Amino acid sequence: MVATAPVEFESAELSQKAKDFLASPKKMLLNGQWVESASGKTFPVYNPATGEEMAQVAEGDKEDIDRAVKIARNTFENSGWRWMTPSERGRIIWRIGDLILENLEELAELESLDNGKPISVARVADVPLAADLFHYMAGWATKIEGTTIPISVIYAPGARFHAYTKREPIGVVGQIIPWNFPLLMAAWKLGPALATGNCVVLKPAEQTPLTALRLGELLAEAGLPDGVVSIVPGYGETAGAALTAHSDVDKVAFTGSTEVGKLIVQAAAGNLKKLTLELGGKSPNVMFKDVADLETAIDGAANAIFFNHGQCCCAGSRLFVEEDIYEEVVAGVTARADKIKMGPGLNPDTEMGPLVSQEQLDRVTGFLDSGYSEGACMASGGKRLGERGYFVAPTVITQSKPDMKVVREEIFGPVVVAEPFKSADEILPLANDSEYGLAAAIWTKDIAKAHRTAELLKAGTVWINCYNVFDSALPFGGYKQSGWGREMGKEVLDNYTETKAVCVAL
Ligand code: ADP
Repeated sequence: MVATAPVEFESAELSQKAKDFLASPKKMLLNGQWVESASGKTFPVYNPATGEEMAQVAEGDKEDIDRAVKIARNTFENSGWRWMTPSERGRIIWRIGDLILENLEELAELESLDNGKPISVARVADVPLAADLFHYMAGWATKIEGTTIPISVIYAPGARFHAYTKREPIGVVGQIIPWNFPLLMAAWKLGPALATGNCVVLKPAEQTPLTALRLGELLAEAGLPDGVVSIVPGYGETAGAALTAHSDVDKVAFTGSTEVGKLIVQAAAGNLKKLTLELGGKSPNVMFKDVADLETAIDGAANAIFFNHGQCCCAGSRLFVEEDIYEEVVAGVTARADKIKMGPGLNPDTEMGPLVSQEQLDRVTGFLDSGYSEGACMASGGKRLGERGYFVAPTVITQSKPDMKVVREEIFGPVVVAEPFKSADEILPLANDSEYGLAAAIWTKDIAKAHRTAELLKAGTVWINCYNVFDSALPFGGYKQSGWGREMGKEVLDNYTETKAVCVAL
């Protein structure tokens, strides 16, 4: 094991705006009002860099979810929202994107503080991507179109009909989001729901509710009518479960673990609500010996796993390297891992912050322990860093066996398993040997091989000579147990509309 640089605890001061937000009471958003939970209870939010409590937030549970769903139903059926012109709706959604950019620094600070991610990343990725998603979806609001369909009714010879389809909002949508990209996940969910005219009850993750609450303020400022979006912070087992089981919710959109995704499928059965699920992954990152530039590919492999501390459902956590270059690539990724500057997210020099919570720390170190006990080798990292906060050293595992837990299960931390492979024929069964199918990547300069491999990989996204490239226009989602449906792009809109076929006798 290699010594990793010690954690640097220096943290920059928050801006006055972020301090003011942090000091203000954190309630839930119901019908345009910020209110206490029905029970009056609150829950603590911790700073992952120190483990200290930094805020108390209203704790929603079943009663609050009931209130929020009633508001959403009433707003959907009886307010002008559904009948607002698409162009007006699009302007409001665009304005939400603008307001996110106008408040970029404050949102980046809150995100970094709450989640632990480097402020430098929140500034250039999380916050601008969230704004871009709203801008992209604003354009779709005026383009939710049906078709006219020529029909041949065979039992009515000579009769003439005019048939067309309409795409209508589904109605009341429950949205449950995770803690790894809190603001961005709120954007991914809200953008398409609003563009298609639905009403929403949003439940942020209990670990990271801050930016969703700040976004709630911006929604009102953008002119979104009261009641279109309610935000109910709370725990998954209570507020989340109540939302997924609620008989008056028409659809649930969820991003989180595969384990919870399966619970949601069961809970949704009561009223057969529509579901989209963006779940876990154990994504293969395949590096052939004919890469165009080895240093770029090694940078890519390190970024694939260490970006966001590995807390990405699409993290490149299984690195397969053609044997001729295996040693060199492992040495390169290990060298990069050892150089990563660890510290609180708010420190401007930090390249990797803490994991999000004590629970995540325990989970990831538990996987490391299992790797040790099953005989894997840690070429780098392999341990917690410091006694304070939830820091884990970026870790490269070698000499693994296919049935080890670290190889098969999603770790959701900065831990990559590197394995050599012999040939293009051998790699596909290895890469596809997973219950997940969210993402994959290929590194080669042979274009035909790249496209052939991309075609055969069972994954919703395949990156070629790059990794972690996201765009509001690119659909994202999983094969196999990585989920149902797609987020973003034109495709997500289908998941927020019902198609109505109308047939007129002429
Ligand atoms: P993680 O294990 O990474 O924390 P989860 O899948 O547990 O991810 O959490 C993602 C989101 O799902 C969070 O908002 C969490 O509160 C919510 N959640 C957790 N358990 C349930 C549940 N039983 N029903 C509905 N939502 C849940």
